[in-house]
Amino acid sequence: MGKLACRLSGHAVDRRRVWHDGLSFRTRCDSCNAPLIRDREGWRKFDFEKDPSKHRSGHPVTGEIV
Ligand SMILES: [Zn+2]
Repeated sequence: MGKLACRLSGHAVDRRRVWHDGLSFRTRCDSCNAPLIRDREGWRKFDFEKDPSKHRSGHPVTGEIV
């Protein structure tokens, strides 16, 4: 259900879980739990091919990099 909603209207940014990794603001989709990143255009899905960087640190609580 959540993923269909994401395809139709975009991911549901979970603003309560936003954190900063040193380069960008990050959170997860409230519907499908996909990792999201905010760039100059706005929120989008984290791109595992292009987005990982040594300048990003893990989540302050969980240590996850996504
Ligand atoms: Zn989603």
